Amino acid sequence: MSTKDYLEKDYYKVLGVSKTATKDEIKQSYRKLARANHPDANTGDPKAEDRFKEISEAYTVLSDEKRRKEYDDARSLFGGSYRPGGGTGPGGFDLGDLFGQGTSTTGPGAPGGERLSDLFGGLFGGRGRGATQSRRGADVETETRLTFDEAATGVTRSFQLTSDAACPTCKGTGAKAGTAPRMCPKCAGTGHENKNLGGFSLSEPCSECRGRGLVVDDPCPTCSGSGRGKSTRTIQARIPAGVSDGQRIRLKGKGAPGENGGPAGDLYVVVHVQPHPVFGKTGDNLTITVPVTFPEAALGADVRVPTLNGLPVTVKIPPGTPSGRTLRVRGKGATRRDGTTGDMLVTVEVAVPRDLNGDAREALEKFRAATAHEDPRHGLEARAKGM
Ligand SMILES: [Zn+2]
Ligand SMILES: [Zn+2]
Repeated sequence: MSTKDYLEKDYYKVLGVSKTATKDEIKQSYRKLARANHPDANTGDPKAEDRFKEISEAYTVLSDEKRRKEYDDARSLFGGSYRPGGGTGPGGFDLGDLFGQGTSTTGPGAPGGERLSDLFGGLFGGRGRGATQSRRGADVETETRLTFDEAATGVTRSFQLTSDAACPTCKGTGAKAGTAPRMCPKCAGTGHENKNLGGFSLSEPCSECRGRGLVVDDPCPTCSGSGRGKSTRTIQARIPAGVSDGQRIRLKGKGAPGENGGPAGDLYVVVHVQPHPVFGKTGDNLTITVPVTFPEAALGADVRVPTLNGLPVTVKIPPGTPSGRTLRVRGKGATRRDGTTGDMLVTVEVAVPRDLNGDAREALEKFRAATAHEDPRHGLEARAKGM
């Protein structure tokens, strides 16, 4: 047990005794609780194991006069000012850093956060203390490939998510069927080994039980005694319309399920969108490049332009449209995330013929002669010199 443990855990509450309880009262309460929560008497209830460890830990400290005093001192020193989770403690140092445990996963069981009724629910009401401690599920990240159309319109995808779970064979105890783990003799079930370094008590996971507080004589063949397994779930999630390549989208509540009624975590999906042979995207707008002939650009024309998932539209090219000009077609773009529709941006590109037949060549030569006085590069050199 580290000083951090001392600050986070209310051993008096764990044992259900007052702060002024006598040694005998502590012992009595401990015996009663330990009997009720002993893993041998609660096979198949992994919460009993946690309760039993907690009770043993509390008793180890409170039954020892010297350790009880250290514990009381630590708690009165840091009083209500300590917040688990690595906040800055009194004197400006970070307790999390000091004890080498940057983050704390303390949930609603933080100091002062639990009621006695929760504690005793497991003993007298059939509900374990652990069962009332809800925990949010973990966030999960995955990725998916979408076609351009799917990204534009939105799509429902199913994801196979694998997460850590208790081994299904032994229900997390790590013990072979018909056997139960027993309390680790080395750490007396606390899971910690303590090293006293000049006033500080440094805690390390117990080398015998690797921090579980329990040892297994006959390991479960499925998990080799670790108690850990994997569970695979398939979930359906809607990718909204309008996502872009490389975007990481958050699907609330689609991550790992919470424990004991806690909310589920979130699912993050990184989307990879395949490029479309014709359409592109810029912001909420769809883009397309449309080739036109020189006469169409010069004289004006109505040209048919395809849309994504719809009928083609007729776009009016005004006379004298330069190559590269972009025309906006309202409402023919991709669906935005708010359900409205963006615009389609049509970029006009003048196509230059590679081969000209006799008539076309002749016509073009005439055109050149007719426009000989026009110089599109007029003043270019002067402007290049900054004049
Ligand atoms: Zn197992
Ligand atoms: Zn141990």
